[in-house]
Amino acid sequence: MKLATIDADDSTMQSGPADILSLQRSDFLRAGAPELSERLADIRKLRDAVRQQSEEIAAVISADFGNRSVHETMVADIWPALASARHVLQHLASWMKPRRVSVGLELMPGRARILYQPIGVAGIISPWNYPFQLAIVPLIAALAAGNRVMLKPSELTPRTSEFVAGFLGKLFPAEKVATILGGPDVGAAFSALPFDHLFYTGSTAVGRRIMRAAAENLTPVTLELGGKSPCIIGNDAVMASAAPSVAFGKLLNAGQTCVAPDYALVPRARLDEFVDHIRQAITRLYPSLRANPDYTAIINDRHYVRINSLLDEARRRGVRFLEVNPSNEKLPPAERKIVPSLLIDPPDDLAVMQDEIFGPVLPIRPYDSLDEAIEFVNGKPRPLALYYYGTTKIDRDKVLNRTVSGGASVNETLMHIVVENLPFGGIGPSGMGAYHGEYGFQTFSHRKGVFLQSRINGSGMLRPPFGRAANTMLKFLMNR
Ligand code: NAD
Repeated sequence: MKLATIDADDSTMQSGPADILSLQRSDFLRAGAPELSERLADIRKLRDAVRQQSEEIAAVISADFGNRSVHETMVADIWPALASARHVLQHLASWMKPRRVSVGLELMPGRARILYQPIGVAGIISPWNYPFQLAIVPLIAALAAGNRVMLKPSELTPRTSEFVAGFLGKLFPAEKVATILGGPDVGAAFSALPFDHLFYTGSTAVGRRIMRAAAENLTPVTLELGGKSPCIIGNDAVMASAAPSVAFGKLLNAGQTCVAPDYALVPRARLDEFVDHIRQAITRLYPSLRANPDYTAIINDRHYVRINSLLDEARRRGVRFLEVNPSNEKLPPAERKIVPSLLIDPPDDLAVMQDEIFGPVLPIRPYDSLDEAIEFVNGKPRPLALYYYGTTKIDRDKVLNRTVSGGASVNETLMHIVVENLPFGGIGPSGMGAYHGEYGFQTFSHRKGVFLQSRINGSGMLRPPFGRAANTMLKFLMNR
């Protein structure tokens, strides 16, 4: 029997996911770890379907957002999924190989190796902001590692989540990949299931709940969370290239990006120059906003109101404010587009300087010395990403060495996330664990350490009855 996707409205919702977990687990235990050929065939099948249906995926995401730029979907949802599949297809054979490691002299001629074993059934909970990529890339990693997967996509992109359920349902039987649809209640029940690993992408607040729920089952977690990623403009930054790069990173998906530069720290003497360059850069990227298909809308009314309330508070407090609305358009609230806004030198107690913005708003804070900028970053929770713009190696190294962030890009935003050979993940409140490329394979694998004893060996020397041989051996071991 193949179980169909279970919908949140289904009255069997509570027992359904638990049933699927049992089915996947028993099938996994019966079948054992899949061969390389099976894993590659699965990933190829997935890759081909993504390629064939990319336009449908872009259309369904856009319908969920109101308007989501098709190009942004291709760049940030489809391409990462395809790039991740390609990388896995190229390297999985070598990742899966048992790794020989050396043993100490006293254990020779025994041998040791690390076996990479699938962990079993992985649960994946994904968010709405890149609703395809953030479901499919962890799925690829979990399948590459030989696991069964249950996916719970976001309720805030209902069309995309339903599409993903149907898309995966056609590619894989429910005992291999199953999608569970529903909101926070379903998510809470899902995270309480005794998975062998739980991989969560979303807010830090929900991440805490996920970890609490997983602790009951001692289920290991990977938490891909959010936070305020700073962008430091160095004294010697090339403004003509830095500002367009920051503007792009900020306004991709209208700022609804976990690794978007949240706020900028700029040398006081270069503040006006930066503001001017970034205004020009935004004007070039988005000469109009309302009917411009490239400029994405805010996901829903709640987030639209939330971002506007950040702006209202800044206005009330008299913060210097620059709206970059090149065609002077009126943006009706029903369409949920927000004018890109620069807030210059906002006080630190404003919500826009405390909470993750997740919208097209860039606070810009002047600083007097690089040490001050570093201290400012270090005074806040550890971010998911950090960006530094500058040409001097000594300053760049100072920033990279003295700040702690999940990842970083220098003279660029976002791009560290698309390098398959880099681990992607947060630290502290921005997350725990990492994936992408081989790191994803390892996250979803158990590293089993195996010792292989040789027929002739000296282990008997350390067994009772202890005598001269044991004493000689101990003396040798302790004085090596
Ligand atoms: P969210 O935490 O509200 O929801 C994410 C998922 O968790 C959804 O599927 C949701 O249904 C589920 N969920 C909600 N409440 C739950 C509960 N109590 N128990 C279990 N599951 C529950 O996050 P969001 O608003 O969809 O995403 C935005 C946040 O995610 C931002 O903070 C952003 O920075 C972060 N994010 C991080 C990354 C990353 O890779 N580190 C990527 C994208 C987004």
